[in-house]
Amino acid sequence: MRFTELPRPSRVVFGPGRFAEVGDEVARLDRHRVVVVTTPGRKALGERAADALGDRCAAIHAEAVEHVPGEVADAGVARARELGADGCVAVGGGSAVGLGKAIARDTGVPLVAVPTTYSGSEMTPVWGRTEAGVKTTGRDERVRPAVVVYDPELTTSLPVATSVTSAVNALAHAVEALWAPDATPVTRLEAAESARAIIDALPRVAAAPEDLDARADLLYGAWLAGAGLAVTTMGLHHRLAHVLGGGLDLPHAGTHTVLLPHVMAYTLPAAPEASAALARAFGGDPVEVLSDLLATLGAPITLGGLGADASQFDTLAERAVTPPPTHPRVPTADEVHALFDAAL
Ligand code: NAD
Repeated sequence: MRFTELPRPSRVVFGPGRFAEVGDEVARLDRHRVVVVTTPGRKALGERAADALGDRCAAIHAEAVEHVPGEVADAGVARARELGADGCVAVGGGSAVGLGKAIARDTGVPLVAVPTTYSGSEMTPVWGRTEAGVKTTGRDERVRPAVVVYDPELTTSLPVATSVTSAVNALAHAVEALWAPDATPVTRLEAAESARAIIDALPRVAAAPEDLDARADLLYGAWLAGAGLAVTTMGLHHRLAHVLGGGLDLPHAGTHTVLLPHVMAYTLPAAPEASAALARAFGGDPVEVLSDLLATLGAPITLGGLGADASQFDTLAERAVTPPPTHPRVPTADEVHALFDAAL
């Protein structure tokens, strides 16, 4: 056995009702002029965060959009500078956290994340930015949230359809962590437990979206998925999701949902340990169990259904293998094209 275990220094606060502690967390960090960022749709939640922060809140900036477009990131950074912000609280899904990360990276202020989806971004030092349809991602310790507050009560309003695609986004992190070249004994345990929790909780959430226990279990699975994503190398699945999502402006979580069974079917024969771990976690053949679940839940299962323009597949398949992803089975551009066609 040979491995390198990386630290994950974020403080994680988990439990129903703990959103109320966001002010205490900001006080612990000794921050006095915090900018709250969120998406326009979560503005009311941003206001609740501002109330909890009291006079430590400088302003609410509810301008986040998906995939962190460059101009949206730059405007957020400019606003934080104008305000003289000394901290940032991001409340909402991965889009809100993504804008918070842009602010943290460019201004150096600490980030507190209050995720309301299962995207997992809050646990990672990974930032993203989209310029002219090309999404760039990178790692930078400045964007890793100092504190993450997980409150399942904030997730009961997440519509079932979004819950499903977001949970599969999380599942994709766990699956890739299992076959990552730098997986460790700890990340394998986390990823397998994450996959188990997500597959167990997702149908319960879909059946009863306000069931707090089911929501807590799903958020727990998403936390573990994000924790693994933070310290392992992303493979083909994330490469394809980013290339398609950025290149065709497709919804991030929906793209993950459509691609995951295809990438698993392509990869698992070359990744026997991951395959066995997933079979145990899912209680059956991993691709079959996932595909059946997605069909039962009415999840998006085709790229065509997401509005993908197949005339771009040549360019995007080239982009997806340049440079080749770190993956148990490295595809050619033609193989990626075939995978896109199968998913279309
Ligand atoms: P999102 O943040 O856009 O949220 C999806 C939708 O759900 C939005 O309309 C939002 O307003 C709504 N919503 C969020 N929480 C809600 C709630 N509790 N109740 C009702 N509605 C709610 O999407 P997402 O899938 O969470 O995140 C996608 C973004 O995150 C992408 O830009 C992706 O690239 C990024 N991401 C980054 C990382 C990373 O490590 N850097 C990891 C995963 C995702």
